[in-house]
Amino acid sequence: MYSLKLKKNTIYRGDLILVNSTYAYHEINEYSNNSVSVGGNIFLNNNVAIALAKIMLAINAFDKISFVSGLRSNVEQSEIYNKSLLENGEDFTKKYVALPNHSEHQTGMAIDLGVKKENIDFLCPQFLDTGICKEFLNNCHNYGFIRRYPQDKEMITLIAYEPWHFRYVGYPHSSIIKKLKITLEEYHNLIQKYSYNTNNYIYKSCNLIFEIGYLKASDLAYTQIDVENKDFFSISGDNQNGFIITKWREFNEK
Ligand SMILES: [Zn+2]
Repeated sequence: MYSLKLKKNTIYRGDLILVNSTYAYHEINEYSNNSVSVGGNIFLNNNVAIALAKIMLAINAFDKISFVSGLRSNVEQSEIYNKSLLENGEDFTKKYVALPNHSEHQTGMAIDLGVKKENIDFLCPQFLDTGICKEFLNNCHNYGFIRRYPQDKEMITLIAYEPWHFRYVGYPHSSIIKKLKITLEEYHNLIQKYSYNTNNYIYKSCNLIFEIGYLKASDLAYTQIDVENKDFFSISGDNQNGFIITKWREFNEK
């Protein structure tokens, strides 16, 4: 057994952070060494760009689906918001555009996708529920992505149905969210009920067993996380008040 000591501000980082109208994005994520261009001036975080490339290759979508919007700086999000207010009015903007510092696009983990064609609407690109788009939707959870703003969940996400907006949360979280038909908000509420190491959420998939638990951040400068030497694990902040720890090991069903 050994212990990790995580600084308080690490709750604002990681694949699972919840960024919405309640929880602002705390980091400054601008184009950097960690950003990868996925074509033209559209950037994503390195690991997210790799996962996206994998699914696009797997379903042979590169000439059928366009990347419309990826990583945005705070300044860009402000510009998009203000431009939309002028052009589309307040009602539309509040439904489809997040306030600056409250957009998932600032995390580098969100991508807007549109059917490849000549004039693609920047805010509301066309993303069909048939053909290649459907194939993307049906497979994306295997690569760590979720459809972030589903239909009939507007009361929870406070964003209108956006079939084109996908968020990277990593595997197996994407798979669990898909299976339970819930939003990222609901997933956070669920996992917060499972205490790290004493009462983990168990998920079996792909010959692996995952144990997922929540740990509230300490009021002190550091939060101590105890880990077994044999464990494979990842830690993400929740962007609220704690950490989600995911452990996994091989699982052979006899
Ligand atoms: Zn988007």
